[in-house]
Order: sequence, then C-alpha cells, then structure tokens
Amino acid sequence: MAQREALLLAPCAMHATDSAGRAVPEPEHAYRSAYQRDRDRITHSSAFRRLSHKTQVFSRDFDTLGRERPPDGRGDYYRSRLTHTLEVASVARTLARALRLNEDLVEALALAHDVGHPPFGHAGEEVLDRRLAEHGGFNHNAQAVRIFTRLERRYPDRPGLNLSAEVLEGQSRRALKPPRSGAGSDPTIDAPAPLLETQIVDAADSIAYDSHDADDALELGLLTLGELDASALWRESVARMRRRYTALDEEDLRRATVHELIDRQVSDLHGVLSREIAERGLDSVEAVRAAGTIAHPSPELAEQVCELETLLFSRVYRHPQVLAHRAEASAALDAWFTRWLGHVDELPPTFRAVAQNESPQRAVADYLAALTDRGVLRPAVP
Ligand code: MG
Repeated sequence: MAQREALLLAPCAMHATDSAGRAVPEPEHAYRSAYQRDRDRITHSSAFRRLSHKTQVFSRDFDTLGRERPPDGRGDYYRSRLTHTLEVASVARTLARALRLNEDLVEALALAHDVGHPPFGHAGEEVLDRRLAEHGGFNHNAQAVRIFTRLERRYPDRPGLNLSAEVLEGQSRRALKPPRSGAGSDPTIDAPAPLLETQIVDAADSIAYDSHDADDALELGLLTLGELDASALWRESVARMRRRYTALDEEDLRRATVHELIDRQVSDLHGVLSREIAERGLDSVEAVRAAGTIAHPSPELAEQVCELETLLFSRVYRHPQVLAHRAEASAALDAWFTRWLGHVDELPPTFRAVAQNESPQRAVADYLAALTDRGVLRPAVP
C-alpha cells in the first residue's frame, strides 16, 4: 500500500500510511487502505442508506404543495441527498485523480458529507436547531460526526464506525462553516488549513448543487431558461453549447448547459489548484496545512458563481411554493419533537442512552434527524 501511494500520489496528498489512526486501534487490512475501509463503513451505514429518501431541495415523495406524489415515477427525476452525494463524489474524485490527491480519502469524505442531514434539508435543520437552542443547537455537519462516533452501531463492543482521524477531521471542519458558504472559507478557522482532500470535497459540493439545483428547478418549472439568462455563468455556458452543437432543442440545450456548467467550474478549480500547488511549492501535508484554504474558483468565475447562487436563492430556495411546503414539513417535525419529548422512554435503546447521558432534547433530535421525509410526513402525529 505504501509503495503504491508513493508511486501514485503527489507529495502534498494525504497518504493513508501516514494516518493518525482510529480512536480504537485496529490491525491493518490485508489489501484495503484505511480510507477504503472508511468509505466502505460509511456506505454500509444505515444513515447513508436513508439519504435516498431525504430531500435535497425538492422532495421525490411530496410535491411542492406538500401532497404525496402518486407512485407514477414523476418525482424520481429530482436529486435526493443520495444522488447529490454521488455527484459530489464523482466531481471530487475527478479532481483528486487529476491532482494526484488521495482518491480513497476524497471518496470517503464525499460520501460522508451529507449523512447528518435531517429530513427536509435546511427546513428540518432549522426546526431542530430551534428546539435545541438551550441544549447546544443542531448542525447537520456536526450531526454526521455524532453518527460516525456514537449513533451508528456496527460493532458489538464499541459505538460508532471507528473511522480514521482524517475523515472525522474533514467532517468536523465542515461543522465550523456557515451552511452553503461555497468553496470560500472563514480565515478565523483557516489555520491550520484542512487537507486538500477536504478542500476539494467542499468545492465539489458547491459545484454539484449549483448545477443540479438549476436543472431541478427548470424541470419543476420554478425557473425558465430565459430567467436563468440573468446569470452570466449560465448565459456563457449556453453560448458555448450553441457554438458546439447546431439545432439544439430546449431539452438538449438544458442538459448540455448543465454539463458545461459543471465542466467549467471543475476545470477552473483544477487550474487554480495546479497553479497554487506549484507556485507555493506544496510538497508535503505540513505545507498544505500552513498554506490556508486554496481551493477557490478563479476571481472571474467566483463572481459569476456568486451571481448564479444569488439568483437560485431568490428564485428557487425562496420560491413561495418551496417555502409553503417547507412550512408544512417544519410544522410536522416540530409536532413530532413535542410528541417524543413526552415519550422519551419509548425511544429505541441508543436514543434512551443519549437522553440519560446528555439530554432528552438531544435524544429526540438524534432520533428525528435519522428519519426520512416520508418517515416524518406520512404517519400522523399522535
Ligand atoms: Mg452537500
């Protein structure tokens, strides 16, 4: 494994053989690196499987008016947290391989990054954070760390997944960032900087959601192609596609433009990172730690990305239909919180232990955060 890494990875990459290890030491696996094992543990966790029925922006199970979708497959177009996660892993691995960073670590971090999301995305997060205001609050990134270190049960003799220190560190760093802050970073938490593997997963997350949220909003009819033309990034991508292909119908144009949007941002980031790594002479993980966060879009693209995100924020995330559905989902989650707070002794054993060791509020939040969208909206609150 060490020979393979020495041959394939750049000097600034995190080598699995240099890992700070696991909270409970384990013998090395015969043919899987520590980060391959982490990736497998995350993929096999119940929190990961539940991502398939958690909302990214639009629900697959409920329409924007909160009505349960008929089982005709129409909602299946939209990204769930699971397919979003796979898009992030795909973008991040592309960058990792091109830059000779540790692909296994990147994949583990990408698959882990949204595991702590409660049902109904940021609407659900706001409810839990409010109900935990006096008990430490709720943050989906920190929740993923709780899941990995104590809530998932994989071994009879210890809680959690016993992941490598670098995977837990990468996920913990995300908990310090404000949500949806993109590839930019807060200088106050920038020293020492996250590993490059962590930085590209954060950047890949932004690239993936900007592109697929635009696509999902078009599919849903919340946005038109004409409205997206207010974004220079979109407009230029459309122009490139019109030059590359003649006679595009609207559907083809949209698909090609979404691909182009991802490709432009990934290529731009690859260019920035290659340049930064070379110019700063980043020849070790220590040098990466000292350099601050370097995974930013180029200045020209950063401005355009910001413009697209502002447009998506006002036209999609703040759309009256999206907000109305959120209000309904939030009310249901809030009612469940009240209900379970009065019946903590009926929670599964893992959560009863949390109620005893931490607080009943934390136990209820842990329990509700694990549910899927339909796990919250389908059963009536007693
Ligand atoms: Mg994400």
